[in-house]
Formats: sequence, C-alpha cells, structure tokens
Amino acid sequence: MTDSKQITIAIDGYSSCGKSTLAKSLAQTLNYIFIDTGAMYRAVALFAFKNKWINELEFNSQNLIANLDNINLHFEKNEVTRKPEIYLNGENVESQIRTLEISNLVSRVASIKEVRIKLVSEQQKMGGKGGVVMDGRDIGSVVFPNAEIKFFITAAPKIRAERRYKELLASNSDITLEEIEKNLIERDFLDSTRTESPLIQTVDSILIDNSLITINEQLELALKYVYKKLKKITKF
Ligand code: C5P
Repeated sequence: MTDSKQITIAIDGYSSCGKSTLAKSLAQTLNYIFIDTGAMYRAVALFAFKNKWINELEFNSQNLIANLDNINLHFEKNEVTRKPEIYLNGENVESQIRTLEISNLVSRVASIKEVRIKLVSEQQKMGGKGGVVMDGRDIGSVVFPNAEIKFFITAAPKIRAERRYKELLASNSDITLEEIEKNLIERDFLDSTRTESPLIQTVDSILIDNSLITINEQLELALKYVYKKLKKITKF
C-alpha cells in the first residue's frame, strides 16, 4: 500500500466501543498516523481538575478558557507498547487520563466551545497531510468533513460496559460494572446532546455495530472498505 494515495480515515462513535482499538490497528496496517482525540479532551479535563476548576459538582469554565494557551499537548510513541501516549505540558499523563474520575468530568469540558476550537485546530494540523486515522466524536462531521472514509462505530451499552470493566479491573479493582455503565450512558447523552459539535452519524459514514464481532473481524471488515476506496481513488 506504500505507493497508494494517503487518505484520511475518520472514526466516530459512542464511548468505549473500540474506536481507538480499530483506529490503532488500521493505522498500523496501513502505516498511517493514529490520533486518539479523546485523549486530548481527557488531558484538558485533567488540567482543569488539577487546577481545581472542576469537580463532580462545579465547573469554573471561565478559568479554564482563560488558561487554554497554557495547555500544551503532544503525543509520543511508547517504544514498548508501540502506542502513542499523550503528554500534558511535558508530562506523560496517559494513565492519569484513563481514570473513572476523569471519565466523569471530560464530557463537560468537551462541551466548551473554546476548548473545541483549540483542539480541533491542533487535530487539523496533525492530520492535515493525510495518511491519518483519527478517532473521536466529531472527526467526520467537523475536523475532517472531507475524509475519504468515515466509520461510525457502535455496540450495545451492556457489552461496551463489560469490555471496559475488564480493561479497568486490571488497574483498579475498586471499580464496579454499574459505575462504568452509568458513566458510558451519561457521556453518550452529554456528547450527543451538546450544542457544540454533538456526536452525530454523518450520512456518508459507514456504520459498524461490533456487539457480536471480534476485534479482528472488525478490522477485516474496515480494511475491506479502505482497500475498496484506495482502489477506486488510484484508478482515477
Ligand atoms: O474517546 P474517549 O472516550 O476517550 O473520549 C472522552 C470524551 O472526550 C468523550 O466522552 C467526549 O466527551 C470527548 N470527545 C469529544 N470529541 C472528540 C473526542 C472526544 O468531545 N473528538
């Protein structure tokens, strides 16, 4: 595939339905860049949390907005796991952003217009040259509306919660399945109903429901669409 045109692949969908897993595998297979935009919103939420501008009950969004220029985000590949990890002002915060505490705050931070303007502009710069697989909530609708391929991923909420539960159990034994399911449902609701760039399935996206298929089956299916598109593009 090295001599093909480098396209943009946008992956959107509900929380914890394996978007990043698919994006990462697609990027590896195609030798593309992988960008997990959820990690960027999580890092901004962590910044607000560490500065005590947000908790479960209150959110001083004006303080966050006034300090957005003091947030520097970048990704670096972990040479052991081969996964890109996010850095907030020079500190690797990859594990700090994955806690349930940050999951419970992030959607409120992501609903702020100024936060979105900053992150969308950074995402467009990172992926502007093509050869990118980017996952999030607004990639096909806002960040790259002209992406050559757009996937919209979903799965039954119970299945998504169980998958995430197994993942989180490895690092946090206190967590319950109910807490995770509640978080997923709340985030899906906030992300789909917010005024700024709500999560929507664009008309030109390919819907994949992965409730009953494996990670590998999902990758095979997505690759079929990608190769079909690449073949079509190189013909003309
Ligand atoms: O993808 P992940 O679950 O890590 O995203 C965390 C949160 O970040 C989402 O629930 C959503 O509120 C926000 N997000 C967003 N737009 C994106 C990516 C993530 O609003 N492109």
